Amino acid sequence: MAGEKILLADDEPQILELLTEFLEGQGYMVRGATDGLQAQAVLVKEEFTVALLDLKLPGLSGLELLSIIKARSPETEVILFTGNAEVESAVQALRLGAYDYLLKSDLLLADLQAVINRALERRRLTQTNRTLLENLSQTQAELAQRRAAELTQIRRIGETLAGPLTGRQIAQGMLNLIWESLSLSVLGLELRGNGEELPREAYRRQPEVADATLGAFKSWLKDQINGWPPDWVAASGQEEQIQEAPLPAMLRTPLQAGEVKGLVAAGREAPFSPEESELFRIFALQGSAALKNLMLYEKVRSLAIRDGLTGLYNYRYFWEVLHREVELARRYHRSLTLLFLDIDDFKKVNDTLGHRVGDLVLKALGTFLREAVRHADLVCRYGGEEFVVLLAETGYDQALISAERLREGVAQILVEVPEENLHFTVSIGVAELKPGMDGDDLVKAADIALYRAKQTGKNRICGF
Ligand code: GH3
Ligand code: MG
Ligand code: MG
Repeated sequence: MAGEKILLADDEPQILELLTEFLEGQGYMVRGATDGLQAQAVLVKEEFTVALLDLKLPGLSGLELLSIIKARSPETEVILFTGNAEVESAVQALRLGAYDYLLKSDLLLADLQAVINRALERRRLTQTNRTLLENLSQTQAELAQRRAAELTQIRRIGETLAGPLTGRQIAQGMLNLIWESLSLSVLGLELRGNGEELPREAYRRQPEVADATLGAFKSWLKDQINGWPPDWVAASGQEEQIQEAPLPAMLRTPLQAGEVKGLVAAGREAPFSPEESELFRIFALQGSAALKNLMLYEKVRSLAIRDGLTGLYNYRYFWEVLHREVELARRYHRSLTLLFLDIDDFKKVNDTLGHRVGDLVLKALGTFLREAVRHADLVCRYGGEEFVVLLAETGYDQALISAERLREGVAQILVEVPEENLHFTVSIGVAELKPGMDGDDLVKAADIALYRAKQTGKNRICGF
């Protein structure tokens, strides 16, 4: 307790001198005052750990000094000296915040020392308590903040990765979540698989990251995906030390969704905390789950709308699109034409070369048609050996030209069959959507035109 500052106020010089000597001998720094006003002047300038005040002082009383002290520095412990006649005032002083009082009549120095020690001890405990409480409330505030941040993350995962999304949206959404939640220098994604609209790669970097660093990061990640599965994926990512890491601190995790394989990795200078690493994994896992849903959805959808043999859209899907296109063509006064194709003498192929060869012919025709039409046109297998091509924003004359091009192209197709180079032809009916016609009318018109093409010798085109 040495070095603590004590204010000592007593109007009896001998007592002041004696106590000062005693207290300084104990190692305290003592300021003496012989009256209340002098004591007040010192209190304004300095702060004390303990104040020893005579209750009866000229100028200002001990009680008055007590209230000044408690108002200025509540933690200063005040001990009062009192005569027998003033014990009531001393009790009042305790109510006003004094720590204790000592009877002047039988004052023992040992008692004084003990009371000062207790007062100092209480002061220390009060201070420790306050620090603990402050730390506690700070910790609680931090916990609450972190919890709120976690809830925000969860909500954002939901907003970003739930719902019907394309592969590109999922990849971008996942990268955005990671990029915004962790402080990273570089972030990258590599995907392999034949899902629709899947990006092959996506990268982010902070502006200050050098090209060379990003380049090293990219080629590291590409090496990992090209060597699929990397050893650490097989070892369920347990290997902590990353071999030949392009940045000092790295996080990485695999993405797997059916046929689709992917890797997400992030890097920076400073090490990652376990929480950051966990958050990174959670985001990647959610991204994986969203990709899985997408793959599943595409698979089911493709089973429902595609023909198994040729991979072209099926009859059902054709009618779905036809109704929509007819509606659009009517509303915006656009042209719409339909080609109805039928393989000539297909039964003969089946009968002479077998059903399997018949299937090869159908497949070859499917592949040819898919590649021969524009992106905006719709090719479907209507049934058996019948195919339709819906030409959006195409008038009758243009449709005839397209039909002719297809007819000539089909005649060129070579189906490789043992001991024979098989060729085949198609007949095509062409019809244009006219005012007052609906989808059914358009199909009927094209079918009638096709019938005419068959009647007039096959391997030809007829319009409606
Ligand atoms: P036309 O020139 O008048 O069109 O004569 P066609 O022989 O092509 O026509 P038809 O309608 O008499 O015969 C069509 C044949 O197509 C009958 C059917 O067995 C065959 N077919 C339908 N679907 C398939 C299929 O998926 N695979 C195979 N190999 N044959 C099929
Ligand atoms: Mg037929
Ligand atoms: Mg036929």
